[in-house]
Amino acid sequence: MKEEKEELRALQHSLCNTIFVNAQEPMLVLGLDLRVLLVNNGALKLLGWADGSLGGKPASALVLEKDLREFSDLTALAAKNGVVRNYRFYMLTASKSIVRLFLTAQALKDEAGAVSGFCLYLSPVSPDEWSALKDPHVFRNAARKLGRLTSIGQLTSMFAHDIKNPLHVILSTSELLRAQEGQPEQVRAGAELIERNARRASKIVKTLLDFSRSGMCRLEPYSLNDAAEYSLGLIDSALKAAKVGVDKDLGAAPKVFLDPHYMHSVIYNILNNAAQALAGVKDAVISVRSGWLPAEGEVFLTVKDNGPGLEPAMLDNLFQPFFTTKENGTGLGLYLARQIMDEHGGRIIVASPPGEGASVSLRFKKTV
Ligand code: ADP
Repeated sequence: MKEEKEELRALQHSLCNTIFVNAQEPMLVLGLDLRVLLVNNGALKLLGWADGSLGGKPASALVLEKDLREFSDLTALAAKNGVVRNYRFYMLTASKSIVRLFLTAQALKDEAGAVSGFCLYLSPVSPDEWSALKDPHVFRNAARKLGRLTSIGQLTSMFAHDIKNPLHVILSTSELLRAQEGQPEQVRAGAELIERNARRASKIVKTLLDFSRSGMCRLEPYSLNDAAEYSLGLIDSALKAAKVGVDKDLGAAPKVFLDPHYMHSVIYNILNNAAQALAGVKDAVISVRSGWLPAEGEVFLTVKDNGPGLEPAMLDNLFQPFFTTKENGTGLGLYLARQIMDEHGGRIIVASPPGEGASVSLRFKKTV
């Protein structure tokens, strides 16, 4: 018995070294009070601390004074949802300079399932990437320069296709490995880790393929109301099962130039986001409105929910690729929606007045 325990401890130690201490990705573990409990070599290097000097430090050693509130909101959201991925943030180094990075905060749970701390993954950003992502104009131009390979271009779809098969092999092999009886604990835990990550990668690939099936946008005169009805039809049974009501008011408006395939994906994704935000909400309702805005000269479709809405700081992150606050999210839905609206010469507006849920509005100028 004692030997077994020691063996297990040795295993845990070597797993911790492989997965945490020597991992290339900078990582930190914080307690619930946001004090540093563990830090790996990558994070020590990135933040410029000597070994052993960051343990026990409070969040104020990692984050600018003015960002402390945002940081604690971020961890609170991770505690609620399990994870927040790829949040744009600044962190302090030992010498009080600033590193710009994408922060992923994963809630750690104890055996009873209560949140006991957070694992932070830090992904530093080069200045070019940063300004491109921060400034939609620069980003759009950069995307165009790249021949639209960022989202719906051919390269994405080729890449996604090519990567799908090897991923499938990784996934099924790791499943097999994990299910085999009599495996040492280390092999089983490793296989589980591979499987979980391969699943996430598969989901990202699937989203890219869903959005890129037909290559470039082909715009044709089409009723936005018909596109909305079609997408509502796709999600109808899921909404009924989740007891989410739909309040529909589709008004008269001219047809617009749109690609039905892409627009169905965009609207479905927005409805699906609303439905997910409404999980556990009493009297959950999604309202879907459309019509013509004479002052702006635009046809609109607005999807609004009475869910928890979004913090102002989250609104700034929404259209960034891979930003997600969901355990199984890809963070690609809104990013691709904005790209597609760009291709349509339209725009997408997200609003979340305090206490009023979230609303996402698609606007089209190219009317028939
Ligand atoms: P994903 O749904 O995979 O996370 P999206 O790009 O579609 O990716 O959404 C990014 C994030 O925006 C979500 O993780 C969520 O935090 C937020 N979000 C989107 N729609 C809503 C909504 N209706 N209410 C609250 N939060 C939302």
